[in-house]
Amino acid sequence: MRKKIVAGNWKMNMELADGLAFAEAIDGYFKFRPSKAEVILCTPFIHLAAVSEILLNSKVCLGAQNCASEPSGAYTGEISASMIKSTGAQYVIIGHSERRSYYHEDDNLLNKKTLLAITTGLKVIYCCGEVQKERESGKHFEVVNRQLGDGLFALSPDDFRKIVIAYEPVWAIGTGLTATPDQAQEMHKYIRELVSGKYGKEIAGDLTILYGGSCKPSNAAEIFSKPDVDGGLIGGASLKKDDFTAIVEAI
Ligand code: PEP
Repeated sequence: MRKKIVAGNWKMNMELADGLAFAEAIDGYFKFRPSKAEVILCTPFIHLAAVSEILLNSKVCLGAQNCASEPSGAYTGEISASMIKSTGAQYVIIGHSERRSYYHEDDNLLNKKTLLAITTGLKVIYCCGEVQKERESGKHFEVVNRQLGDGLFALSPDDFRKIVIAYEPVWAIGTGLTATPDQAQEMHKYIRELVSGKYGKEIAGDLTILYGGSCKPSNAAEIFSKPDVDGGLIGGASLKKDDFTAIVEAI
């Protein structure tokens, strides 16, 4: 069955103590207010183990924001999928546009990371989305088609079931610009059709597709009301308790 999800991507924000206090506050909030969406906190690596303890008996899930493309060994500064798994985290974001643009991660590398993460037992939130120029020149469908084809479509059907796709138009991330609900729906429907063509109707129907890009309490309900939008990947607004919980409740 298709799951609703709201995931917060903290990015490179919050020192350890602040992150732990924030995770406790979010956990405390949802303890008494069951949510229709699965809530995931995607924290920096240094928070994972301690936040995992806080979320031990919680409905709130935990994720990382990236993982290494190699399983282990002499890769100074890298964090492997199995290290992430060993903290108790269940999810990892792969292919965020900031990783694609600042760290030059391409679809082949992202495919390698995804396979490794899935084999390790993590679920993957796989990001795709076009930059402004591509949208303006009408290439957005082509770009997303390529990102998913090269990055994901070599997965077996069983492995693909462990994927959540996040459509994040790059021009909407952290800019205050948001895709209109119709633009989001149009792309989400296209993604579901692509997946249906590759893996069949049942897997496509079960796939959770999140929208990301300046999602906030004032626009979340309208975006989430679209039939192919199954929740959100939230950046800036996930750092403010009232905003994040309001977005989750918009589901
Ligand atoms: C993101 O970084 O995944 C994101 C959606 O950021 P923001 O909500 O700040 O646009």
